[in-house]
Amino acid sequence: MIQRNRAEESDKLKTAFIQNISHEIRTPMNAIVGFSAMLGDPDLDSNTRDTYVDVIMNSSNHLLEILSDIIDIANIEAHLVKLNPQSVNINSVLKSIHRQFISKAEEKALEFTVMLPLKDEEAELITDNTKLHQVLSNLVNNAIKFTEKGSVKFGYYVKKDFIEFFVKDTGIGIPAEQLLKIFDRFYQIEDHVSKKFEGTGLGLSITKAYVELLGGRIDLLSSPDNGSTFFFMLPLKKPDVKEFVKEESRLVFRFPVRRKILVAEDVESNFKLINFFLANCNAEVVHAPDGKVAVDIINSDPGIDLVLMDLKMPVLNGLEATKIIRASRPDLPVIAVTAYTDDRVKAMEAGCSSFIAKPFDKRRLIQVLKEFI
Ligand code: ADP
Repeated sequence: MIQRNRAEESDKLKTAFIQNISHEIRTPMNAIVGFSAMLGDPDLDSNTRDTYVDVIMNSSNHLLEILSDIIDIANIEAHLVKLNPQSVNINSVLKSIHRQFISKAEEKALEFTVMLPLKDEEAELITDNTKLHQVLSNLVNNAIKFTEKGSVKFGYYVKKDFIEFFVKDTGIGIPAEQLLKIFDRFYQIEDHVSKKFEGTGLGLSITKAYVELLGGRIDLLSSPDNGSTFFFMLPLKKPDVKEFVKEESRLVFRFPVRRKILVAEDVESNFKLINFFLANCNAEVVHAPDGKVAVDIINSDPGIDLVLMDLKMPVLNGLEATKIIRASRPDLPVIAVTAYTDDRVKAMEAGCSSFIAKPFDKRRLIQVLKEFI
């Protein structure tokens, strides 16, 4: 009986999700298609053109956010999410989130503050930088989204063996009977949805899964009149070696010795983006527009240090190409670049060393380069 109820509940959630997600995807898509068409008007003045380009960029970014949420959930379900523990300066992470959201908070005239009790040079912790960033930015994003007046405060407290992070808002709050449900996949409080807040109901389930992966537990205090406070504790693991790296400097990366990277990618614009990310890294970038060319280049050029391998390519796909490459170069790092969870398992089976989830940013690319070269 309980199992049947669960199955029905899960079916209902999935249907609601599909309806909601198609609306969420259609809205930015309509803007992108509509405004792109209008850009073709030869009489447009440059101000109007800039406004259209802004709309297209914002809608595209929003679309990317939705897609990356869906990919994250799929990865979590397939147990493919791995931690990358490193020395992280939590003050840098929190400051960058503050910078990221300050204009959103200002648009709503909210008081927006970050509390950092540790000095910058003492705020190092061993954790996963990307996941911690994503957890906190999801919570801060929600706090601003669901608060019309008052304040959003976030930060941390230092306890004996752990750090307690918190995000506190004075927003619309959450009724007691829904407090646990909001962490379910696809769940959105109906009252909130009817007030036309954007969202897919995925953010908090990703957040909860990541906090647990990081060794913590997420909890909240909330009531409709008093706003909400989300908090979670992480173990206070200090780095052994003092290595204070500024958040921004991680994006500036150069190989000490010049390296050669083969990018196997059939879509020209994707190749251009990777090429752009790799500029100033002290790397020579070689392009293969399909898997067959990639194999030929590897066979004729022993100087290739790493391959970024798109999986869906004409002539010879990335999986087949990787299998062939593995026979002659068993130690060459081949990184699969893919958006599909299923493909990731296949990629590892075909002999890829790791994968990068599409869409990816420069930070993720550099992380992989550092790991494999
Ligand atoms: P969504 O993308 O819909 O925001 P989330 O998983 O992040 O998805 O949140 C699920 C639901 O929990 C939201 O739709 C909203 O109803 C509720 N919620 C989340 N954070 C807050 C908050 N700070 N204040 C009030 N309600 C919230």
